[in-house]
Amino acid sequence: MSEIPLRRNRAQSRVLHRASAAEPAVAVGGEGCWLIDQDGRRYLDASGGAAVSCLGHGDPRVRAAILAQLDRVAFAHTGFFTNEPMERLADLLSEAAPEGFGKVCFVSGGSEAIESALKIARQHAVERGDLARTRVIARRQSYHGNTLGALSATGNVGRRRPFLPWVMGDVVHVAPCHAYRYRLPGESDTGYGARLAAEFERELLIQGPETVLAFLAEPVVGATLGAVPAVEGYFKAIREICTRHGVLLILDEVMCGMGRTGHTFACEADGIAPDIIVMAKGLGAGYQPIGAVLVSDEIARVIETGRLGLTTGHTYMGHPVACAAALAVQEAIRDDGLVARVREMGPVFERLLREGLGDRPYVGDIRGRGFFRGIELVADRESKAPFPAGAGLWKKIKEEAFARGLICYPGGGTVDGLSGDHVLLAPPFIATEEELALAIDRLGAAIDAALAATG
Ligand code: PLP
Repeated sequence: MSEIPLRRNRAQSRVLHRASAAEPAVAVGGEGCWLIDQDGRRYLDASGGAAVSCLGHGDPRVRAAILAQLDRVAFAHTGFFTNEPMERLADLLSEAAPEGFGKVCFVSGGSEAIESALKIARQHAVERGDLARTRVIARRQSYHGNTLGALSATGNVGRRRPFLPWVMGDVVHVAPCHAYRYRLPGESDTGYGARLAAEFERELLIQGPETVLAFLAEPVVGATLGAVPAVEGYFKAIREICTRHGVLLILDEVMCGMGRTGHTFACEADGIAPDIIVMAKGLGAGYQPIGAVLVSDEIARVIETGRLGLTTGHTYMGHPVACAAALAVQEAIRDDGLVARVREMGPVFERLLREGLGDRPYVGDIRGRGFFRGIELVADRESKAPFPAGAGLWKKIKEEAFARGLICYPGGGTVDGLSGDHVLLAPPFIATEEELALAIDRLGAAIDAALAATG
């Protein structure tokens, strides 16, 4: 590596950048919960990027596993070979999964995993001769990925809009479960969950249950709403309706899964088992790009005994180095007891958030589970009126936080004009209480500065 830190503004750089800064910071190091740039500035990574770096940065066990795998074999096409880390990672995941989940397929990220899950669901129907089942019911204000199939399932209006001619596929959207925004005055959680489940079943009956392939949902809504779990009983009712109508339940745990909520799978807290679980981000914790689709034994049986063979496929499926990294990550999480730590520290994190931010007039709601927390910002606490979407408050918060050495994941402002801006925090599972408190302190200062700047 060169001794002189690389420094490039947009005009000099040949990269089509995602970062909005005129001269994006250059990441040169990472230690635990901290990232370091070319000037030696340290950033507290309180969102693991986008809920990715759950083990923190620079874990030597993962590094060693990656190097060891490179010394064996970097790539062997899964059309010909299996490989040891892929087999072991599949064992580990199926042992951790709810009863009846025996088989996994590995891809390179969340969107690919969603595409694969939808294709596997369709293949399951085709193999059974259930050809009319094509339609997917998903939820408004959801994010399932950026490739066209995943974007079709996505309910986030802003993310879909530029691509509408391509994403109109056979998808219908129903309401998300978002008690802070949409529970009626005087309605109980149970009543709200039951009402949404009844609305879902009504939509299913309108569409014709025999045409519906799957219901797709994030157990805790991440990027679009900011860590919104469902009310108790909602997913149990959805599970029952899906089973009764032969509709597959696919849970998108790309962001909320792999320990982030204090359970290996977020759906454990909802007391249900879906038919397919999709995961990515925390699986490889950012050490390598990887996603996975975990399918029920029944789906695996139909596919493995079917005529078509596994029809979803990508060149880098089950990549040995990615699987070795993810295996080392998951073993480290298991050996260090980090899921239990997240479960225990979750209430501490929530308390710190309430103490640090709860009294501020612009904080409408603090929510989430484990190390997956959202703060919704409102112009008026009483009416829950959001800040104007055009003000771009969330973007300003991101900039102000970064300037204060904090990485967080704000969003909002374009969601059906109803919800407000929010900030998502998803720190590494190793974050100390002091680091959590520091993140909240910096976030409060960043929001104040952003509000001052946007008027
Ligand atoms: N599903 C959810 C819930 C996500 O949050 C994301 C990404 O943020 C995706 C799918 C897409 O994953 P990826 O960005 O790895 O393609």
